[in-house]
Amino acid sequence: MTNLQMVDLKTQYQNIKNEIDASIQSVLDSTAFINGPQVKEFTANLETYLGVKHIIPCANGTDALQIAMMALDLKPGDEIITPSYTYFATVEVVGLLQLVPVFCEVNKDTFTIDVNEIEKLITPKTKAIVPVHLFGQSADMEPILAIAQKHNLFVIEDNAQAIGGSYTFSDGTKVANGCMGTIGTTSFFPSKNLGCYGDGGAIFTNDSELATRLKMVANHGQREKYIHEIIGCNSRLDTLQAAILNVKLKYLDAYCDARRKVADYYDAKFANHPKIKTPYRAPYSHHVYHQYTMQVNGVDRNLLMKKLLELGIPSMIYYPIPAHKQKMFEQVDISKTNLDLTNWLVENVISLPIHTEMTDEQLEYISSNFLTLLNTL
Ligand SMILES: *Cc1c(COP(=O)(O)O)cnc(C)c1O
Repeated sequence: MTNLQMVDLKTQYQNIKNEIDASIQSVLDSTAFINGPQVKEFTANLETYLGVKHIIPCANGTDALQIAMMALDLKPGDEIITPSYTYFATVEVVGLLQLVPVFCEVNKDTFTIDVNEIEKLITPKTKAIVPVHLFGQSADMEPILAIAQKHNLFVIEDNAQAIGGSYTFSDGTKVANGCMGTIGTTSFFPSKNLGCYGDGGAIFTNDSELATRLKMVANHGQREKYIHEIIGCNSRLDTLQAAILNVKLKYLDAYCDARRKVADYYDAKFANHPKIKTPYRAPYSHHVYHQYTMQVNGVDRNLLMKKLLELGIPSMIYYPIPAHKQKMFEQVDISKTNLDLTNWLVENVISLPIHTEMTDEQLEYISSNFLTLLNTL
């Protein structure tokens, strides 16, 4: 079998080519490359889709996190509780702003921040909790929000991997991921669940005052042209990217469903295998499977990946090195935290291809070969 990929952006594009091309052409015709009408249009459409009051578009998901922390006026030395098991950008901005990351263990089933470990990490310097909705599944937000309220902390949801997913509270209320905390952030990196054709990002909030500040930070600290009130940066969503996202947003639910179907297929194939723990679906979460990440045991993972690749099957390790083991953070004190599970996960997870264009034939080929290798290696 040829052309197996972790994500197949080419086929996805070909299936909506006419609409995308027309949308791009309209930007070229207008030459409104910066802050063109498509940016406003997309922002409004996404606000409606998510049910959130304010969306501030920006240049990428890393900027979104940085702008969020700047707008909350976090100061050097302030402590931020965040998982170490995440894509590095989450914690990179913490370091960039000279804030102190306080690494928290993750839950063994969901891979998201362990809500039972958060409170013991809180000190008088703690200012925010940054849960990450990892691999398409929301963190357990209800207890996180309760802890934050009790200790007067901000919550910044890193929703780069779970747009289109949601969280159901114990009273039955369902809220879109990224729209529960003080601020939510996302990325439109091409391979994300809602991806553009370059870089893009956005920030969500229901707080109107905060929205004004977020807009200022993203726009050179100005509210009025040439009047710079606070330290900001220059972070915009390109009009071309907004035009593409405007088309793709219409397909987001179908894309999430397609990803969930792939996960259903793998789950059924791999159920009860002694060497595999398939991804857990938390009852509170509408999982949108940015990744299909399993835990495997009793097999040489490197050899498994090598043998898969010989059969044309790509696989990935998300993530091979947790943040607390990165050189950049070697000064960070982790003596108060137990990160055993994080350390174990990075050695034992493996992710298989999951995307919006997979065929049953591809799924059968991948899963049966995966099982054969697991049983023989
Ligand atoms: C992709 C990602 C980011 C960063 O997004 P960019 O648009 O690449 O800057 C941040 N956090 C997480 C969890 C991500 O997966």
